[in-house]
Formats: sequence, C-alpha cells, structure tokens
Amino acid sequence: MAVKKVLQFGDPRLRAKCSRASFGSGSNRRIMLDLRDTLLNLQKIHGKGGGLAAPQLGCLERIIFVSAKGRSFYIFNPRITEKSKRMFNVWDFCFSNNASFLARISRHYRVTVEFQDENGENQRETFSGYFSELFQHEIDHLNGVLFIDHIRDPSSIVMMEEWDRQLKHKQH
Ligand SMILES: [Zn+2]
Repeated sequence: MAVKKVLQFGDPRLRAKCSRASFGSGSNRRIMLDLRDTLLNLQKIHGKGGGLAAPQLGCLERIIFVSAKGRSFYIFNPRITEKSKRMFNVWDFCFSNNASFLARISRHYRVTVEFQDENGENQRETFSGYFSELFQHEIDHLNGVLFIDHIRDPSSIVMMEEWDRQLKHKQH
C-alpha cells in the first residue's frame, strides 16, 4: 500500500509541463502503484472522483490512472487528436483542491485520445460524456493546467458541502 499525499493548488509542480513517460526496466512501477493506491483511497474517503495524474503526486511524467464506472486503466503519453464542437457544462473539482469546492465549466462533449497502455502499446479511443470530461481534466494536469483555469463565471463556484446538499441530484 502506497497512499501518497496529493499536492495542493499553489504547489508549483502542479503548473509544470510534464515530460514523456518512458517504458522498460519497471521504471513506472512505483508511480503506477502509488497512483492506484492513492486514488482508491481518495475515492473511499470522498465517495467521488475518477482519476489522478502523476504530477499530483509530484512525479512530472505523462501518466494518468483512471478508475470509474467499472473501468480501471493507466494511460501514458496521451494526446487529444479530435475534439467535438459540441460542448457541455460539467461540475468539476480536483483532489488537488482537496475536493473542497466545485465550479461549473465547459468541456468538449467528445474527445479522441491516442495514448500508450501499460504495456507500451499504442491505443486510440473515443470518449464521450463523463470519460471525455475526465480525460480533459487529467490531460490538462500533464500540461500544468488546472480546472480553475477554465472558470468563466466565478459565481458558479460552490463548496462541496453545499453542492452535495443542493445540486448533486440536479447534475446535467
Ligand atoms: Zn485534478
């Protein structure tokens, strides 16, 4: 078990552009386990959240772990190659803000992502809705971009406690 502390907004490492992850000689083993154990622990604590990016644990490489809706997988060196013109509004938050507040932002409804899987094999997959939003959020992390950078309307910021009380059931 390797549950790590998640870097919080204000830590300059969250603003770094991460470098390409390489494969071989088990080099990614540790960060892969840390991402998985830490995300699963956060989900247990908060009951929400679907992904974690390596820079959130201080590892500045292009690695993401996602676990949501019955799917768990690692993606390495992802690149968004297509984006739908269609946008949708989502309530976004981050474990690097300690899941303390959300804001309503706009994301592409569908994205096509090229990436390498944990064996280094090239993959290409199109995601819509929830997974589209999730991948845009996580890939942003690899480029030093945070969800707060997408806030257009500061009055949409809501503390998690309020959101759970008022808005959780009104999503989308
Ligand atoms: Zn995040």
